[in-house]
Amino acid sequence: MRWRHWGIHFGVHEVTALEKKADYERLIREFGAEPITDEILSYFKDPHILLRRRFFYAHRSLREYLDLHAKGHEVAIVSGRGPSNYMHLGHLMLFAFIFWLQKELKARVYIPLSDDEKYVFGKVKDLKEAYKYALDNALDILALGFQEGRTFLYISTHTQKIYEYATLLSRYLTYNTVKATFGLSDSANAGTIFYAAVQAAHILMPTLEMGYPVLVPIGADQDPYMRLTRDVAERVGLFKPAAIYSIYVRGLTGEPMSASRPETCIFTKDEPEVIRKKIWMALTGGRASVKEQRELGGEPEKCVVFEWLSTYVFQDEKKIEEHYRACRSGEILCGDCKRLLAASLIKRLEEHRRKRKSLIDKLERFFIHDIGDVNEVLFP
Ligand code: SF4
Repeated sequence: MRWRHWGIHFGVHEVTALEKKADYERLIREFGAEPITDEILSYFKDPHILLRRRFFYAHRSLREYLDLHAKGHEVAIVSGRGPSNYMHLGHLMLFAFIFWLQKELKARVYIPLSDDEKYVFGKVKDLKEAYKYALDNALDILALGFQEGRTFLYISTHTQKIYEYATLLSRYLTYNTVKATFGLSDSANAGTIFYAAVQAAHILMPTLEMGYPVLVPIGADQDPYMRLTRDVAERVGLFKPAAIYSIYVRGLTGEPMSASRPETCIFTKDEPEVIRKKIWMALTGGRASVKEQRELGGEPEKCVVFEWLSTYVFQDEKKIEEHYRACRSGEILCGDCKRLLAASLIKRLEEHRRKRKSLIDKLERFFIHDIGDVNEVLFP
């Protein structure tokens, strides 16, 4: 199928796309990650569509991690969130996959909210701002249905043990390695250097505390940080954290999704009218005129709307395939697809916001430390 693997993610931005594809492949060819195979899928009774479609396409130590789980070992998943803005659909999709993994593996899920990272890298003006986003983001994440008692959130600077573990692990990281991994210059502030140890502490906390092997679902471009933490784990004699890598969904304009460019993404807070407007402006693979499109068909390989429908709306391959054919044959027009995408996301986000609201009074139950008055922070 053309839309499987990387097929649908490339097209209009061909150079960027090919570079990206080359990066994805290099992770396996040059950096020792392994591809997700049918054998890996066979660990799951009904593998998630993002695994079947190889949206999650590569891994490190996933086999070992799943073997331990199959032998009855308790396992953990760690996935952090840097709270410097509101969450959009791209962020949410990763956590939706993690929610599925939690159910499948009965795993404990740890979600560090790294206010320290966003502060030292200058993405927020102060820690107070990051704190507000951390609580807001936590509501979005938990609204996906994560289980109470198996899901543990914390804000990095509010967690004493993270400081202890980061200090412990910092002896195994050199200045030069951190500088190279994070691409830092000599004038980088000291916090950015120490943050590498904090990140290792986030990932390794479940292993350090309880001996649980950890899996980190993550974007492919985050691999250098995973390699750093895996090296540290090896040096201190811990299970090297497993990783599963995803490719990216393009933003609505065809560029990467970015919270600082609202036109590229849909925030969970976006009102229906805003969603419709953004989707109406999205990049498609449509032709110059209706007549031409009816005659020649569209080009779904180039189309962000098709990419979003395939990722966020259609739940099975048959539906994706039917839509692909309908586009190719000129049976459907871009306006139809945009209306379908907008209606589906509006409906889903309305439900999401209802769930978010219902969690405000329960939020503290998911945190491993006191979070104070949530209403006061979010609605001052
Ligand atoms: Fe994309 Fe739909 Fe237009 Fe085809 S008809 S190019 S799938 S928006």
